[in-house]
Amino acid sequence: MTVAAILSRKGREVVTVAVDRSIADVIHMLAEYRIGAVVVADDGGRILGIVSERDVVRALARGPGALDGVVASIMTAKVVTCRDHDTINEVMARMTEGRFRHLPVVEDGRLAGIVSIGDVVKARIEQVEREADEMRAYIAMA
Ligand code: AMP
Repeated sequence: MTVAAILSRKGREVVTVAVDRSIADVIHMLAEYRIGAVVVADDGGRILGIVSERDVVRALARGPGALDGVVASIMTAKVVTCRDHDTINEVMARMTEGRFRHLPVVEDGRLAGIVSIGDVVKARIEQVEREADEMRAYIAMA
């Protein structure tokens, strides 16, 4: 199964934020959309960074005044991405290696979706269950 297959069910919408917005704004977005990360993008959809709930927690550890800081001050600027044709296994490996749970999808240089560890685990479980069903049907036929 590929990233494109996951996105065909989940959709390609990505919640983005501008670099100059406040950390408090990010917290509101994470809560409103029930997500764990937002992609930092410019008006043209170019990826500038990513901010996850972990970055917010680290900022809060410095004190509540951190909420007034801007997104640029806590985002990870070097974003690892994936492509439509990448497989679940490739995406899982990239997340494990990088120790993060979100991978924006880029096609033609533009943001084209996002997959989270939750999406990947769900797809993997479905794949394993499907394979087990096929195996059972095959054995029953024999
Ligand atoms: P997460 O596990 O996604 O909550 O993110 C953990 C840390 O990795 C945070 O500092 C994020 O900014 C960073 N991060 C999340 N996703 C990515 C990614 N695709 N590429 C690079 N850094 C990331």
